[in-house]
Amino acid sequence: APTLTQFGQQMSHLTGVRAIMKDIIETLQSGQSADFINLSAGNPVIIPEVEQLWRDCTAELLASDDYGEVVCRYGSSRGYEPLIEAITADFNRRYDLTLKPENILITPGSQSLYFLAANAFGGYTTDQRLKEIILPLSPDYTGYGGVSLYPEAVRAYRPTLEVDEAAHRFKYRPDFSQLKITEQTGFVLFSRPCNPTGNVVSDDEVRRIAELADDVPVFIDSAYAPPFPALNFTEMTPVLAPNVVHGISLSKAGLPGERVGIAMGDAATIRVLESFQTNLCIHSSRYGQAIAARAIASGALAELSQTVIRAHYQEKFAVIETTLDATMPDVPWYLHRAEGSIFAWLWLQDLPVDDQVFYQSLKQYGVIIVPGSPFFPGLRDDWDHKHQCFRISLTDTAERIAIAIRRLAQLTQEIYSRG
Ligand code: PLP
Repeated sequence: APTLTQFGQQMSHLTGVRAIMKDIIETLQSGQSADFINLSAGNPVIIPEVEQLWRDCTAELLASDDYGEVVCRYGSSRGYEPLIEAITADFNRRYDLTLKPENILITPGSQSLYFLAANAFGGYTTDQRLKEIILPLSPDYTGYGGVSLYPEAVRAYRPTLEVDEAAHRFKYRPDFSQLKITEQTGFVLFSRPCNPTGNVVSDDEVRRIAELADDVPVFIDSAYAPPFPALNFTEMTPVLAPNVVHGISLSKAGLPGERVGIAMGDAATIRVLESFQTNLCIHSSRYGQAIAARAIASGALAELSQTVIRAHYQEKFAVIETTLDATMPDVPWYLHRAEGSIFAWLWLQDLPVDDQVFYQSLKQYGVIIVPGSPFFPGLRDDWDHKHQCFRISLTDTAERIAIAIRRLAQLTQEIYSRG
């Protein structure tokens, strides 16, 4: 085998939750149990109305005179112009902004946009100073653990916990007494709504982070935010301050296979990302961009997001809540407040075993959920809480989710009573 470079080694490892996913795929393929209830999936549900929208937009593209221009030619590295126009028009109208094309970059999925940012604004400067990527509230998206060529650049902060013991609910908040954004900070990054927790950092908290950051860019990963896919179950508005780069993804709006991500922010920052992208891959694929342009310009994507996509996951979340409330034993269990995303996040305080052991034991009950420890990228603290949480996907049917949660409650009872 060829000798790998430092970056080669770094990038050829599966990081975070992808390592667990490998175990899950092997479990599912092992054939031990044909009917595992798999609540690990991050892949969104195919919702018929949403699939139909993408089909209709594709039919329009096929019938249009633009077809050759779209797929038979290279385009601008910034992105397909009608998509950029559709996005700026939509955001300017909706949020009373004055965005111009130079404020937008289309990337092949939003994950790649964080990779570009992580390596343009994080890592070592020419005079060997480490610019850190600050995650103000841990846990957060596991993918952030793999975005930097220098993993030591990612630093996360422990949150404060707001616990409602009687209701068995909790919520994370940024801990402003600890959070430091300094000269050494390359940029700040967090997801809102958050994968894995479903947390939505409040508008005020976002403004406070943006103010603390001052000139430092703040990337707000809005993969679940309004206007599309609008997977927020609580009121929230995109905060678009001068130092904020808003990251949008069409993946949870039904288009993960086409890889369409959108960076929206200050023109100088966008230019850096655009050059980096040109070096990497010239530009994002134009077929997905062309159908997205139609779905956004007509308003159909935002409309379906609010009326269909959001309701779909919110109903699933309600099933998890009612089933947990009805079946969990009398132990200190806490569900994170459902503010958005396609996941539920469960904390089993004082769990007698760690999250990996619990995950393995639950497999014996035919249920797969994701152990929480990979969702704390960049958090150096030794913290019990990291080994007491689980991510539960809302992508299976309501019926199967309810069965799985009942089994989880049974296992919880067993493990706590064994002590
Ligand atoms: N950010 C968050 C918070 C996510 O949950 C995901 C995917 O699950 C991504 C980014 C990456 O999305 P994509 O690259 O498909 O836009």
